[in-house]
Amino acid sequence: MQHRHLLPNEIDLLLDGEIGFGVAPLRTHVEECVDCRARLADAKTVTSALDNLPRFAPSSAFATRVLSQVQVVEPWHVALTSSVTRLVPRTGPMRIVMAASAGAIAVGLSSAAVWLSFRTDVAMYLAGLANDRIRVALSTGFGAFARTVFGSGAIDALSTQGPAALGVGIAVVVIAAGSAAFGLRALTVAARRTRE
Ligand SMILES: [Zn+2]
Repeated sequence: MQHRHLLPNEIDLLLDGEIGFGVAPLRTHVEECVDCRARLADAKTVTSALDNLPRFAPSSAFATRVLSQVQVVEPWHVALTSSVTRLVPRTGPMRIVMAASAGAIAVGLSSAAVWLSFRTDVAMYLAGLANDRIRVALSTGFGAFARTVFGSGAIDALSTQGPAALGVGIAVVVIAAGSAAFGLRALTVAARRTRE
């Protein structure tokens, strides 16, 4: 007979139904020792109670439901770059046509900006008009598009605040258009270089 009581890990061995060289003396001790028999019985009670606890698992749709509410924040320049890259045609001539159109748009926007800067009264009127239009547009389909491009924070600021936010928005659009034209030009040059 073993002349000491069982250690907690030895009780665990008996609970797990381990068989082996070291376990037989433990069993012999338990058969002869009232204290250790009581401790083993208590441990069995606890483990069976744990085994019978109800199991909780999230429903299979849980992950999908959570992820559907996670807003993946894509920086505006990444969104813009990928949109522009998608818009660029694969063939060379189409790229040149598109670069020319983008250049024309950029020139048009710049001319309009220069003209408006000399005609402050017209600019104020158009800004008011654009403000109303943008407020309407933000609540419709355009809002969703703009949200993906600029992020919803900017759009919310734009739709709740006044002309100051609108000014910032217009500046962003002008900068974006400029970068897009510059990017298109760079792409066209790169495409021409690879063909040569
Ligand atoms: Zn004992």
